[in-house]
Formats: sequence, C-alpha cells, structure tokens
Amino acid sequence: MVTSPNASSGNIDFAQKRHRELAKLIQRYDDAYYQDDAPLVTDAEYDVLRQELLELEKSFPQLKSALSPTQKVGAQPLSRFAKVKHASSMLSLDNAFTSQDVTDFFEKASRFLGRESRYIEVVAEPKIDGLSASIRYVDGCLEVAATRGDGVTGEDVTLNIKTISSIPQKLTPPFPNVIEIRGEVYLDHEDFFLLNAQRENDGEEIFANPRNAAAGSLRQLDPAITANRKLKFFAYGAGSVWVAGFRTHWDFLEQLKKWGFEVNEHIQLCKSLEDLVTYYEQVASLRSGLGYDIDGVVYKINDLGEQKRLGFVSRSPRFALAHKFPAQQAQTRLLDIQVQVGRTGVLTPVAHLAAINIGGVVVTRATLHNADEIARKDIRVGDMVTLQRAGDVIPQIIGAQLDLRPSDSTPFEFPAKCPVCGSPVVSKGEEVARRCSGAITCHAQAALKLRHFVSKDAFDIEGLGRKHIDHFFQEGVIRSVIDIFTFEERDRSADEPLKAKEGWGEKSAQNLFDAIRAKKTISLSRFIFALGISQVGQTTAKSLSLYYENAYAWFEKMIAAAKGGAELLELKNIDGIGESVAQDIVDFMNVDAHVNLIATLMGNHENEGILSVMPDEKPNVTSSMLAGKSIVFTGTLISMTRAEAKSIAERLGAKVLGNVSAKTDIVVVGADAGSKAEQAKKLGVTTFTEDEWIQVTQSEG
Ligand code: NAD
Repeated sequence: MVTSPNASSGNIDFAQKRHRELAKLIQRYDDAYYQDDAPLVTDAEYDVLRQELLELEKSFPQLKSALSPTQKVGAQPLSRFAKVKHASSMLSLDNAFTSQDVTDFFEKASRFLGRESRYIEVVAEPKIDGLSASIRYVDGCLEVAATRGDGVTGEDVTLNIKTISSIPQKLTPPFPNVIEIRGEVYLDHEDFFLLNAQRENDGEEIFANPRNAAAGSLRQLDPAITANRKLKFFAYGAGSVWVAGFRTHWDFLEQLKKWGFEVNEHIQLCKSLEDLVTYYEQVASLRSGLGYDIDGVVYKINDLGEQKRLGFVSRSPRFALAHKFPAQQAQTRLLDIQVQVGRTGVLTPVAHLAAINIGGVVVTRATLHNADEIARKDIRVGDMVTLQRAGDVIPQIIGAQLDLRPSDSTPFEFPAKCPVCGSPVVSKGEEVARRCSGAITCHAQAALKLRHFVSKDAFDIEGLGRKHIDHFFQEGVIRSVIDIFTFEERDRSADEPLKAKEGWGEKSAQNLFDAIRAKKTISLSRFIFALGISQVGQTTAKSLSLYYENAYAWFEKMIAAAKGGAELLELKNIDGIGESVAQDIVDFMNVDAHVNLIATLMGNHENEGILSVMPDEKPNVTSSMLAGKSIVFTGTLISMTRAEAKSIAERLGAKVLGNVSAKTDIVVVGADAGSKAEQAKKLGVTTFTEDEWIQVTQSEG
C-alpha cells in the first residue's frame, strides 16, 4: 500500500495523485457496494482506504471538495425505482476505531455544548449491519418507505417494506400526524444461510454476507420476492431530531416500542464515558451469539435539545458516532484441500478446516479461489491458517503460520486430471482458472448444468429442484436436458413408472409431468441463460435475445460467429459482450454436442423442435425516438452510472454497442472521452453531451 505523505513532507503533487487514485477506487467500491449489493473488497479493506483519504484531506485541506467520496453519503438511487425525497437527510456516521477516538469525539462535542464530557448522557446501541430505511406514517398509516440512496433522495421501496412483519402498517395511537421512522432492515444468520442454500440449489450466485442479502432483497422490483426473504427491522430514530413531546432519545426509543416497532434489546443508557468502554466490550462479547451481524456500536447523545444544537457536518451528525469492531480473525488447522468442479468446468480448490467459530458463524470451509492463490500464499495441508471475516460471512484465508508448519509438509499440487471424470485439466489463455476439458461428458458438470437448466431464472420447472435432479441423475432417468422433456413418454413404458416409486404417487407424478410440459414454451432469454454458457448470465442473455430478436436468427448468427468473420465482430460489438464473453460463446458453439442439443430443443429448418422458444417481449417503445437506434456511450457520465444509462437506453428501445462504426446512430460523450468520441466525429455520427442525453431520455419519459 502507498502511505500518505504528511503535511510536513509538503509533497502536494504526490498527495494530489494519491488523492485522485483513492477517490476513484473508493467510488468504484461504493458503486459495487451500494448500487449492485456486491462488494468488491471486504469492509476492513475499504475502511483502510477511506481512512487514508480522510488523513490526506486533513493534511492537505485544499484537496477536499464537494465531489470527494469523504463528503458523500451512499450512492444515487437506481433509476429502476421511483425516487423519494427524504423529509430530512439520511446521513452516515463518523467512525471511531479506538477508545481514544471515542474520548476525542465526546470531548469535542462537550466543548461545543460548553459542559464537561464526563456528565454527558449517551445512548449506546448495537450497530446493525443491514441497510437503513425511512418509513413515513401519515395519520398513523404507513404511507411511503425509502432506502437511504444518496442521503437526500432514496429509492421507493414501499410495497417491499410492507412485506416485513416487524414493521407495523398502522401505529398504535396516539401518534403525530406525520412522522418518519428510521431504522435498519437486516437478515438474521439463519435466514441468510437458508436463502444462500436455496440460491445455490437454484444455480444462482450466493450473497457474500447478510448485509448484501438484505439490500438485494429489499431493492427488488417484485415485492413477492422481498416477501420470501424474511427480512427484519430494528427501529432506532426519527427523520427529524426534534420530535414534539420528547426530551431524550431514550424516551423516543420507548415510544417506538409502544407504536409497535422492534427496538434492539441491547440498547443501553450510559452515564459516563467509562460506561461506553464497558458497553463496547460487553457487546463485542455478545456479538457471536446474537444471530445477526453487527459491525460496531453507535453512541448518541441522549438529550434531543443538545443533539439539535450540535447539528451536522457534511455527511454525519455531530451528536452520534459509530465505534467499529475490528475485523474478526481466528486460527485453525487446514485439514484438506479438495478440488470441486463447477458447472462451467472451472476447478475450485476448497479448504476444509477444523471447525472454528468466528463472530457467531461456525466455519468449516473456505474457498482458496485458484491454484495461483494457493501458491502465492504458500498454503499447505496441515498448516495452522489465519482466517478473517470482515463484513463477509464467507471467510478468507489470510495466510499460514510458518513457524507451526509440520516438518514433513509439502506444497499443494493442483490435479492435472479432473477429480470427477479424469479428463485433462486445461487453462485458457491468460486465465488463472483451470478447467476440466470433459464438457458435458463430465458427470460433475452435467449434473450441475441440469440443476442450472431447471433453476428459477432459467426453465423454473416446479417440483424439479436440486434434490430431484440429483436423484434422477443418479438413477440414470435424467442424464441430459433432452431427457427432461422425454421423461413422461419414457415413463409410460417403464418397468417401474414414477408413480410407483417411493415418495411418489399418481398425483405428484402427474403434477411433475404437467409442470415440465408447461415449460415447453419459453422465452429466448431464459433459453439462452439456461444453456449455462460461461459468463452468459441473465443480463447478457437478455441483451442477446433483444439484439437478435428471434431464436432462429440468434442460433444462425451464433453458428456463423463461431466460424469467425462479420458475425463474430457483430457479436463482440454488442454492449456488455466484448472479447471475452464472445470467446466463451464461440467456444460453446464450437462443441458439436452443444449445437446438436440446441437444434433438437429448438428445431431447425428440417425438424420440429421439442420446445417453442419465443422472442422476449420488447419494451413498449414504439413512440420513442431512440427505438431501434444503436448507441455507444463513451467517457464518464456524472449524473448516472454507465449501467443505468444503458438500461434507460434499452428501456427506450435502443441497442447499446461497445464500439463506434459508420452504422452507429448516436454517441453519448461523457467527461474525459477518448478515441471513440474522435471516431464519431470522423465518421459524422451524431453525438450527444450528457445534458443532451438526459434531456432526450426525460422527454421520452
Ligand atoms: P456506516 O455503516 O458506517 O454508518 C451509518 C449507518 O449505520 C446508517 O446509515 C445506518 O444504516 C447504520 N446503523 C446501524 N445501526 C444503527 C443504529 N443503531 N443507529 C444509527 N445508525 C445505525 O455508514 P455507511 O455510510 O452506510 O457505510 C460506510 C461503511 O460501509 C464503511 O465503513 C464500510 O465498512 C462499508 N462499505 C463497504 C464497502 C465495501 O466495498 N466493502 C463499500 C462502501 C461501504
């Protein structure tokens, strides 16, 4: 890590460069964390970078600007949600990492108030690791609920919030005419693990931690999905510091309970700064048994009048402080490294550990990512290893304790043959991952591919979940995708039909066959996603489907692309596809078994297929001036992320491409744009500034 220069070094050039680097990096991490609910680094790693940026701005105040991440809260609301303006800003909290930071904070607050810090009354609360929500009640009825968003405007999640049973739809009287209640939406460990097990079963990506799972579950367009996720809510405040009739924060918490909210049972009123230290230690020791994640404690000055006097700095109140817990670490023995084969053939080494409790979660396994990571960290079976869990339920192995290494230990040798089918293990180009070359002849891949094929976002066949697929696979009844659709017919002449098997009856067997038949008509995007092509997730499948418009056109173009030439260039140029995804599609199409499978399922000019693969419904865009246009975005957009801009364009019927050509209709030029903007000029393609782009999209609704 590059360390920050201090003021005395006076090296402003270096500081400026580092400031830019850090700001850019933090912005990227913020977008992934707040907008996509998929962090790229652990909270501990993030906090170190943020702390470095704060120190840098302290030493060189001229670097501080309104655009710095140190001045911002969260991230802009996503465009797919309606927006809600908060009655008063929803801010972040200043962070303390040591008891000295805590003392300094309260001494400063006391000086401001003109009294002695030791007499200050503080309410200490566990800092719940979820996402905050603001819920407005009008005449006692839940009217609107929003996420924090960028602090000023949040995302409207009213219908989703209404599915959370610990949030009252109506307040128990008496209540003020209008009040905004604030608190944390979270998922407890038990429900988090159940949710992840379900997702694994359905072939979906698992959530890294309960916070991301809670955020991903609340920020759904379909409230029915939220309703299934068992979210919970702790209330801890109001939208305004000053709520008529209350003198202290403590009194207000008591009232929250009377209105019907859940308030955390470990909240405590502390009468001195010493009490805070004891409280912090107590909560730290309770942490592992709570059953939900907390990442520190929050201290709030109890007197609401004093809170009001102290007010706010740019992104946090002056009357409250978050005292963060350090990352949780533990040592345990690495018992074995086993190599698993994934659906796309990637081999993943998994560490099997002597069971260890870290922060309330019993850990027995950790991923080692790939062969390079094991070699880089020199991790060997038999080592005592250090594990870290920092905002992540899935722990990382930081390294081995070399002084405790058994004398006969040997470096881990990555298998040269697939542990399941024995096919040679290969690496593609620069890729660090190693893969089994057995494709669908490898049983591990075949069974996992089948699970993926029937999963929720693919064919979603009711009654044919992971357990049944595994069972039918082992029995040899379903060994390929085709077998699913021929099951009923084969079953009619089977010696022992399904209805006669243990656990099945006439009705349940018929239900399963009906469910399979019901899915013989499927959308093209689901069909493409179900094929399980490496790197082709739901979004890419949808882009392909919308771009090629119908199943036959898509299939023909993919076969042609696999042979190279113009179709391959066209494929690479679809926004979000690019070189690497196109290569994976080409590799898939170059396997005869795959092409035959698609032809059998969809049919071709000679044969009727088993399925009817239907075009995806196009957004209702007939009147949009962007409908059918091809658009390229270049440079940085200030008011929205690239993903947001792309989704708006697609919603209005445009095709978003990656490169400019003479066929491009519009190039949207953001800040610091490079060669693509020049290319557009050279080719005479229409260009829009960001403002013009916003105007056009707003006028299109
Ligand atoms: P924060 O999480 O440090 O503190 C503010 C939040 O605490 C509030 O918005 C509220 O949601 C929550 N909170 C929980 N219990 C509370 C209580 N009892 N009273 C009041 N508030 C309570 O602030 P932030 O701005 O949301 O996030 C910053 C933190 O998020 C970082 O310190 C980092 O750990 C994490 N983060 C991680 C990444 C990453 O990439 N891993 C990226 C961005 C942020």
